[in-house]
Amino acid sequence: MGDIKMKNYMEDCVADIMPSVLAEMNVCRCERCRMDIMAYVLNKLPPKYVVTRKGHLYTKLAAIASQFDVDIITAITQAATIVSSRPRHDEE
Ligand SMILES: [Zn+2]
Repeated sequence: MGDIKMKNYMEDCVADIMPSVLAEMNVCRCERCRMDIMAYVLNKLPPKYVVTRKGHLYTKLAAIASQFDVDIITAITQAATIVSSRPRHDEE
């Protein structure tokens, strides 16, 4: 039973797609800004919790991810625009 776990696969989908979306945009790619963008996107998109076996995770994700690509890309674009207009990497 140890290899069964629950996770939000939306998180993996976003992490997967984000670098290629940001590569097309003129935004800061420091860790703080990427985290802010990621958090914004994940708050905006509905979570997709799945129960999965470890070894099956990535094949399954790849198939599911394509259905969400458009929504995810839109959300990342919006988030990157918002974060880069008010970057928080100089705070603290
Ligand atoms: Zn930054």
